Amino acid sequence: MTISTENIEALKNIVGENGFHETEKDIAPHAADWRGRKNGKTPLVLFPKSTEQVSDIVRTAYENNIKLVPQGGNTGLVLGGIPSDIGDEIIINLSKMNKIIDVDAESYTLTCEAGAILQQVQEAALENNRLFPLSLAAEGSCQVGGNIATNAGGIHVLRYGNMREQLLGLEVVLPNGDVWDGLKALRKDNSGYDLKQMFIGAEGTLGVVTKATLKLVPKPTSIETAMIGVASPDDAISLLAHLRASLGDGLVAFEIFPHTGLEIVIKNIANSRNPMEKPSKWYAICELWGFEAQEKLNDRFTQTLMTSCENGLAEDVVLATSEGQRKDFWSLRENFAPALKMAGAGFAFDISVPISKISDFLSEADAAVKGHIEGIKTIPFGHAGDGNLHYNIAPPDGMSTAKLLEYREEIVRIVHDIAIKLEGSIAAEHGVGTQKAGEILRYKSKSEMALFKAVKNSLDPKGIMNPGRIISL
Ligand SMILES: Cc1cc2nc3c(=O)[nH]c(=O)nc-3n(C[C@H](O)[C@H](O)[C@H](O)COP(=O)(O)OP(=O)(O)OC[C@H]3O[C@@H](n4cnc5c(N)ncnc54)[C@H](O)[C@@H]3O)c2cc1C
Repeated sequence: MTISTENIEALKNIVGENGFHETEKDIAPHAADWRGRKNGKTPLVLFPKSTEQVSDIVRTAYENNIKLVPQGGNTGLVLGGIPSDIGDEIIINLSKMNKIIDVDAESYTLTCEAGAILQQVQEAALENNRLFPLSLAAEGSCQVGGNIATNAGGIHVLRYGNMREQLLGLEVVLPNGDVWDGLKALRKDNSGYDLKQMFIGAEGTLGVVTKATLKLVPKPTSIETAMIGVASPDDAISLLAHLRASLGDGLVAFEIFPHTGLEIVIKNIANSRNPMEKPSKWYAICELWGFEAQEKLNDRFTQTLMTSCENGLAEDVVLATSEGQRKDFWSLRENFAPALKMAGAGFAFDISVPISKISDFLSEADAAVKGHIEGIKTIPFGHAGDGNLHYNIAPPDGMSTAKLLEYREEIVRIVHDIAIKLEGSIAAEHGVGTQKAGEILRYKSKSEMALFKAVKNSLDPKGIMNPGRIISL
């Protein structure tokens, strides 16, 4: 259904001059996917400046049956914040609502508008000698509202959990335009249903997040980072268990990737190099945070890593000796997604399995995928400390990416079936969006889908809020 000129004008009036885009050129970046997989259509992108404006937009949409797509930094990877192909959805982009409202250093909390960029939040916390631990490669562009809507993960989930664990309170504009003010900064509040939980990971299907109160944590006084060569994913997971046992909760990150993947990063990303003297088949980057003097933390880390080498879990270790080197290690890991995009890799999975089954997943999935198409390349990397891998598929030499995509559905079935067989998830951290909305129907039980629908119907009976993402009514 096309949106009437009258309704478009009413929506433009709410945000006023400079509060919308309506030309094709201005709209294009908001309607396109980061990976270039989809270009949606919309007649209008709205940039509200306050909760009141969001509420007026949503109420107008509710009264006139207009579909809305909440949008943050548009770094999402499951096509959830991109409008449909037929131009019947309007984007509400939160980027003009980006204020840090308050930092309460004593309570270890920060309150901000939903359009605040994640990096802005991290910096505001640091200015107050506190830390906001959520960290992901898109942190310079993604927004707190998007992080909440996708329950974002990143590299510190091992120690601090996903976005869900960082959240104390929320303000949300509901699909009828009402504002739910749940913006509390309480660590304890058992006064009934914890409503904020419904909106975390809901991918904008239940309302527009407009403000949030986040938990901050103490800022570490010492940091040690190591890149470790390991013989296999199995060894990497045993190493992780060993490091956790001897270093405790200070171990905040543990990421793994294969040498074949590192070569792709080095080939495509300027100034990147392998810091190890001898190559290993696999690498882990891990980081330890402490509240002791640097030398003491270094001693503890070095001792543990030496034991890891002695008992055969690690082949080689390089410790970062400067902040620059630490950043270089992390940029190797963070550049996996851009490098694979540049190299024309075909497509990626975002699966999780219990940590102890990572190795089983890799050997079963590799055997099945490579058995299906000879010469196909698999490049897994990711958050091994959370059991979450980004399992990338690239074409065999001589096959185009377009040709590989013809096999996509078959490969999806193979990989997802293996993840589920191993009691895993097919949507570990990026969410469902429109990309996996059909796929979850295959794996979730009838009763679970019925509960999903009951929640969606009760909050959004007209189905105007990000329709078709997660579930179709
Ligand atoms: C290079 C790269 C690395 C990444 N690494 C990670 C990673 O390590 N871990 C991880 O979890 N993700 C990662 N992502 C995915 C992405 O960055 C996260 O999903 C992020 O949380 C999305 O935030 P955004 O503001 O860009 O949201 P968008 O992409 O704009 O939107 C994502 C979803 O949230 C909804 N939404 C956005 N804002 C709101 C709002 N205010 N209210 C309600 N709904 C809203 C949208 O409708 C959409 O469904 C990565 C992406 C890139 C490009």
